[in-house]
Formats: sequence, structure tokens, C-alpha cells
Amino acid sequence: QATDTLAREGPSSPSYDWFQTDSLVTIVVYTKQKDITLDSVIVDHQDDSFRAETIIKDYSYLINIELSHAVQGDFSVRIVENVGKIEIVLKKKENTSWKCLGHPLENHNSLVPKKDAVVSGCRFHLLLLEGSRSCVSECTLYAGNCAGLFYRQCQLISKEDVTHDTRLFCFMLPPSTHLQVPIGQHVYLKLTITDTEIVKPYTPVSDSLLSEFKEPALPNNKYIYFLIKIYPAGLFTPELDHLQIGDFVFVSNPEGNFKTSQFQELEDLFLLAAGTGFTPMVKLLNYALTNIPSLRKVKLMFFNKTEDDIIWRSHLEELTFKDKRFDVEFVLSAPISEWNGKQGHVSPALLSEFLKRSSDKSKVLICICGPTPFTEQGIKFLHELNFSKDEIHSFTA
Ligand code: FAD
Ligand code: NAD
Repeated sequence: QATDTLAREGPSSPSYDWFQTDSLVTIVVYTKQKDITLDSVIVDHQDDSFRAETIIKDYSYLINIELSHAVQGDFSVRIVENVGKIEIVLKKKENTSWKCLGHPLENHNSLVPKKDAVVSGCRFHLLLLEGSRSCVSECTLYAGNCAGLFYRQCQLISKEDVTHDTRLFCFMLPPSTHLQVPIGQHVYLKLTITDTEIVKPYTPVSDSLLSEFKEPALPNNKYIYFLIKIYPAGLFTPELDHLQIGDFVFVSNPEGNFKTSQFQELEDLFLLAAGTGFTPMVKLLNYALTNIPSLRKVKLMFFNKTEDDIIWRSHLEELTFKDKRFDVEFVLSAPISEWNGKQGHVSPALLSEFLKRSSDKSKVLICICGPTPFTEQGIKFLHELNFSKDEIHSFTA
């Protein structure tokens, strides 16, 4: 049984077991929860250490072991959903019988509230959350684990211009990692810049807005995509932009509080995005249009300075033709005089015209993301328009 001193009110304590055949070792996590999915478990095998973190509601259950024998790089992860069982199958390097699985490492077999798992004691991560420009990771925690977040090295596979200053980066996860970032969550990227580790949050996207309508070019679970705007005077993004194909960046475990249960019985989904605040909307859009049968309409209001700044404009326009439930409206704050679309900043007038329910009592969710003043003003206007807290989800760090 997991040590559960911090989690008296949390889910019932998970446990784990293991068994072996001549060639395989299977580690089984019994979560005692029915809604476990493949994105609830993150597995890393680095050198001899094996780490599996399972997210159970707002808690994190960790298996962290130095394996007693060598295993091959790759492994498989299976979920038996109706009983909440996770099976991780490792391949032995040698067909010998193991007497024990290995030796426990830090926090092995523990269940802690997720927030505590992330910020436990790292003042540098707290600085980052408070909006400091950089997170200097002179972290006192063990290697690869700044601020209680676990990192693995991912290799840059491709980089493609999307607008004049925004690029689509594709990174490959190591074969010894199982990581699927849940919809609406972000990760931290870490680079060493002039001997200092810098950490910034980014939201993974799909490789295309239309990816649900075509076969992905690369398998989804081994690659991670980011749409990232390069700020010439920025601390982190110019360094990221200078990476060559084949270079590495550290990618953390996911964070964030969006839950797909917010989509249950949803009829109207409204997305308010400004600039790169569009990034969480990408997976949200794909997921809602593919998985929510009750959905009647999805509308995106996309705020940018100029037409040249609009990310994936052609994808968005194509999607309006492919799916009649979807509509997009572009609002520019610094348009050229020929622009005959909507202009200005987020305002009660723009919002009240845009946020029309498909029926009086339809279930609505409004998601908002962008620069902090945009998000704060937007939320204030939404409350003034009588939308309740439960009907609004804002994306922040
Ligand atoms: P910074 O050094 O932070 O500078 C950014 C700009 O502000 C520059 O133009 C700089 O000159 C200016 N600036 C900095 N400090 C000051 C100051 N004190 N006064 C005046 N101007 C200043 N971004 C994306 O592109 N894609 C994403 O998917 C994404 N996801 C995010 C998810 C979350 C949860 C959060 C919180 C942010 C996300 N961001 C995303 C933003 C990202 O984390 C960085 O903030 C961004 O990339 C800028 O980093 P930087 O170090 O290059 O620039
Ligand atoms: P930008 O400067 O190009 O501005 C885009 C639009 O945002 C503008 O056209 C305007 O309509 C609006 N806007 C900008 N400043 C405003 C202000 N002071 N008041 C009201 N509206 C304003 O945007 P950008 O450079 O792409 O920045 C995107 C922002 O989104 C960044 O701050 C980034 O950190 C944030 N972001 C957050 C998350 C998240 O929290 N999950 C994810 C991605 C991006």
C-alpha cells in the first residue's frame, strides 16, 4: 500500500505488484479508479532507474525503482480500463530469473497531491509561477528533476515556419519514455543558456488542425509538437530557434487543470484566443469535434495584431468547410486600413455578439487564453455578461 499521509481525503490508495516470465517483467499498478487512460501514466526508464507516475484525480502515485537487472530500452504500456489496472511490460536483456524488482528510489510507492509533487520546495519553480522571466534551476533536487518535475531529453526532428515569427517544432521522445500530454495541459521546456538552466512553459499541439481528418504523418505517441513564437529580445525562444535538427531539449511532465469532463453533455463551445494563446485550443478543438456527440457548435474568436500574425489561418478556414459546427472569427488590434473584418481588443460588445447560445438552456463552455491582461479583462467581461464560473475555463501557468 502507498504511504498516504498527505492524502487522507484523496483517492483510495493505489498499490503495485510485479511478475515475470523468462523474457518479460510486468509491473502492474492497481489504481482502484475506473477512468484511467493512457495519458494518466508517464513512464521513463533512464539507465537503471525506472519511474512510473500515475495521475489519479488530483494526486500523483509514483513508482521509482533502481531495477535489479538490465532491461531493453523500449517497453509497452496497457490499460485495463474497467478495473483501473495499468500494465507496464519490460523486456529483460537476459533471460534470467529476477529475485526482486529492485531497490526503491526517492518517493517510491507514494501518493501525493499533484501540486505538492510539482512545487515541493523549489524556490526557482515558484519564481517561474510568479511570472519571473526565467527559472534558474540551481535545483537542489536530483538530476533531471527540477522543481519536482521530471524531465527527459527529446530530439528536435523538424522545424517549420507557420507565420513570420511562429514555428512548429517537432520533438521525438526517447524510446524509453511513455508520455501523452493530456488535452489542455502544458509542459516545461528546459535549455542551458550560458551555464544557467532556463525553464519556460509550452502547450503541445497536434501536427495539424486537420489531423483528426487524416492519418498523422508520424505516430502520435512518439512525437510532441509545439507552436512557438520567437521573440527576438526574449530570453528563451531565440535559443530554441537556434537549435539544429538533432539537438536536444529537456521536456517535463505535464501540468494543468483542464479536464475533458468539462465537455460532458456540452452543446456550445466558445474559444477566445489571443496570439499564441491559440495553442491550447488546437487539441481542444480536435477533441471536441471528434468525441462529443452532444456538441452543436464550436466558435473560435481569434485576436491578433495583424493578418500576418494569424496562426494556421488556412487550416481554420478549411475546418469551417469540413465541419459545419465550426466557425471562426478573426479580430485584429492593428490591422491595415483595407481589413474589413472585426477590429479592436476584447470588449463586452464583441463578446455579447459572439457568444450566442444555440438554445436558451444549452450547456456552454468558454475557454480563454492569451496575454494576461487579455485573459483577465475577458473573464471580467464574461462575468458581466452573466456567464458563471463553471462556464469559463482560463488557461494560465
Ligand atoms: P521573454 O524573455 O519572456 O520575453 C518576451 C517578450 O517580452 C520579449 O519581447 C521581451 O523583450 C519582452 N519583455 C520581457 N521582459 C520584459 C519586461 N520586464 N519589460 C518589458 N518587456 C519585457 N508560448 C508559445 O509561443 N507557445 C506556447 O504553446 C506557449 N504555451 C504557454 C503555456 C503557458 C501555461 C504559459 C504560461 C505560457 C506559454 N507560452 C507559450 C509563453 C512562453 O512560456 C514564454 O513566455 C514565451 O515563449 C516567451 O519566452 P522568452 O523567454 O523567449 O521571452
Ligand atoms: P500578441 O502580443 O501578438 O497579442 C495578441 C492579441 O492579444 C492582441 O492583438 C490583442 O488583441 C490581445 N492583447 C495583447 N495585449 C493586450 C492587452 N494588454 N490588453 C488586452 N488585449 C491584449 O500576443 P502574443 O505575443 O502571441 O502573446 C500570447 C500570450 O499568450 C503570451 O503572453 C503567452 O504567455 C500566453 N499564452 C499562455 C498560455 C497558457 O497560459 N496556457 C498558452 C499559450 C500562450
